[in-house]
Amino acid sequence: MTDFLTEAKSLFEYTQSLRRDFHMHPELGFREFRTSGIVAKELEALGIEVTKGVGKTGVVGLLEGANPGPTLLLRFDMDALPIVEETGAEYASQNQGVMHACGHDGHTAIGLTVAKMLNAHREELSGTIKFCFQPSEEGTNGEDIGGAEMMMRDGLLDSPRVDMALALHLWNEQPLGWLGIAGGPMMAGAELFDVKVIGRGGHGAIPQVAVDPVMAAANIVNALQSIVSRNVSPLETAVVSVTTIHGGTAFNIIPPEVTLGGTIRTFDKGVRQRVLERFEQIVRGTAEALGCQAEIALKRITPALINDLSISEKVQQTSRRILPDSDLRTAGYLTMGAEDAAYLLEKVNGCFFFVGSANRERHLDYGHHHPKFDFDEEALIRGSALMAAAALDVLNTK
Ligand SMILES: [Zn+2]
Ligand SMILES: [Zn+2]
Repeated sequence: MTDFLTEAKSLFEYTQSLRRDFHMHPELGFREFRTSGIVAKELEALGIEVTKGVGKTGVVGLLEGANPGPTLLLRFDMDALPIVEETGAEYASQNQGVMHACGHDGHTAIGLTVAKMLNAHREELSGTIKFCFQPSEEGTNGEDIGGAEMMMRDGLLDSPRVDMALALHLWNEQPLGWLGIAGGPMMAGAELFDVKVIGRGGHGAIPQVAVDPVMAAANIVNALQSIVSRNVSPLETAVVSVTTIHGGTAFNIIPPEVTLGGTIRTFDKGVRQRVLERFEQIVRGTAEALGCQAEIALKRITPALINDLSISEKVQQTSRRILPDSDLRTAGYLTMGAEDAAYLLEKVNGCFFFVGSANRERHLDYGHHHPKFDFDEEALIRGSALMAAAALDVLNTK
């Protein structure tokens, strides 16, 4: 049986030097030119077939196993954030105002380490590994869609067609040694909304000739709270939050319109459908009942991230074998945060898992997107070992 933990340990210098190099030279979404160049060069050095420019700066590597079988996608994100780094680390960002504050430098380094290990085990692979180095996970950065969708638009899931997918995230909310690998929903799907409530402006003291959008907006905000309490099962989860409300200019003027903004979060497809339907009915119906009109703009940010049960179970089994000392969490780890791997897992079955990376004693426990964010690099070893071993197991036990 292959001991990927020992192999990952022996490759640690390689992984760490890549990670620190990426950390020193962070690049924003869709501008990962240097990063993706290094990724392509490293993959090519292994003899892996490389396609560049998939989803602008994305890189795809194909590793065919010795035996036929399904195609498994391994996804690693590469982008950094517009943050001024305050870690004071020797490998701190040299690109002022840009920082790897989410751990994607670690993900990219893990991906290349996994490629190196799996390439050395080609003979044992039954199927094809498609390495996906993805740009712009953190947002669309001026484009109409983010990195995962952009790569999918460029055919990421075709030729060869992807059957399954694995992805990971270093996770500073939990200590080194912790693993979160759960089947089912992991992260909520998110939408944002913008509602314009249009009335007719007038004098504050002569309301009968105006149509008051302030009162209509207030009623809409109240009525929207009935969706979660009255239209969603008490055993299901949903959030409807109105977070902005703007309108009016003076104490004696009824304004012509009021705008409302906010977000909707759901896990289940059916619940999402129901919440969105009710949202529209309530906004339009309430506005009309009070003489106003409503313009609704709804935008999906990400779908819910839902892990396949049987693939997640395999990854759990792998983790028990490869990292037996782990504090393994197999259920109930939900977060309302968003992650664009959800777009991939909406199309193919797979598992997105978390690798605990915080170390309190060494003050490596700031949260993701914090200017002092940094993680315990031992998590790189654990992440690489688990991803390589899980890839092999998932392919070979299909
Ligand atoms: Zn992030
Ligand atoms: Zn992230």
